[in-house]
Amino acid sequence: MRQATVSIDREALQSNLNRVKQLAPQAKIVSMVKANAYGHGLHDCLAALNATDAFGVACLAEALQIRDVGDQHDVTLIEGVFALDEMPIAIANRFEVVIHQQQQLDWLIQHQDAYQAQGLKVWVKLNSGMNRLGFKHLEIIAIIQDLQSRGFNCVLTMHFANADRDYPLNDLQVQQFLEVKTACAPILASCCNSAAIYKWPELHFDYVRPGIMLYGASPFADQSVDQLKLTPVMSFNAAIIATNQIQAGEYVGYGSTFQAEHDMQIAIVSIGYGDGYPRAYSKQNYVSINGQAVALVGRVSMDMIAIDITGLNVEIGQPVELWGKQRLVDDVAAANGTIGYELLCRLSQRPQRY
Ligand SMILES: *Cc1c(COP(=O)(O)O)cnc(C)c1O
Repeated sequence: MRQATVSIDREALQSNLNRVKQLAPQAKIVSMVKANAYGHGLHDCLAALNATDAFGVACLAEALQIRDVGDQHDVTLIEGVFALDEMPIAIANRFEVVIHQQQQLDWLIQHQDAYQAQGLKVWVKLNSGMNRLGFKHLEIIAIIQDLQSRGFNCVLTMHFANADRDYPLNDLQVQQFLEVKTACAPILASCCNSAAIYKWPELHFDYVRPGIMLYGASPFADQSVDQLKLTPVMSFNAAIIATNQIQAGEYVGYGSTFQAEHDMQIAIVSIGYGDGYPRAYSKQNYVSINGQAVALVGRVSMDMIAIDITGLNVEIGQPVELWGKQRLVDDVAAANGTIGYELLCRLSQRPQRY
């Protein structure tokens, strides 16, 4: 069988969840499991994250997958519903909605009685300068006060545009958030993703929303998972399926972009962009064999890559780690001009899952 596997370490997921608890002991945890739990496989991750307070997903379809396996945790739809007819389905399944635009407010009020009968909170989103979703701070206060007067239990929420670094907009976002929070007090509040959980303990408030840190990847370009005390959850592995002796002047792979400067030994590994392995910057990339870094040569193909095993004692069938506990996904991402989040989410269905 072709060896191209994605293995999930449930204990690592649990220990990362405990890390969130340690960092934010007072807050409830909304574990973000959107995009198939950041590519890790929703169902396995739900079971491993049983100790969370709630789950967060991007849409109704993702939330329904949580109920499909009988999981009864609270669920927040972080972009709310996308149409009026999704509202009764959300309510029947006890999904809490985010309200980020006027239409959603109308849909909620039309379903006020049923929504409140389920005891659901309403998450109202402040646009504090990221300018994706939400109401501006000058209009949101009246909206929240109106919802409160109708008997809704509101959570003021926002998202940082630069939680991963020091940047002037951060202060402005916090300032606006606190201003609205004070004007609407008493109100529940939530503004921290993974990076913000580490950075601003004073902003944890009632709910924190960890995503990437649960999966053991870093939200920061300049801090490793070791420094953050996180454990990688996913191991992405393949195996050597052929070895070739090539001579100086010979080429490897499509486009003959790699030409050997000296005689060398290469190995072909059973992974490619068809599995979700990145193709763009293969020259800067390497894989791990027994903890040793082994460079890619030539282009990444759909089903295969070539690596330079000159001087190494490796054979056919030998396991190769594309990313995992030895070769960190954050480092593969950095070599490819992207972030760990993207590599994890864009894995294809082809690798065998364990
Ligand atoms: C995805 C998401 C998060 C989690 O972000 P991470 O950087 O992965 O921790 C938190 N809040 C919202 C609104 C999100 O969309």
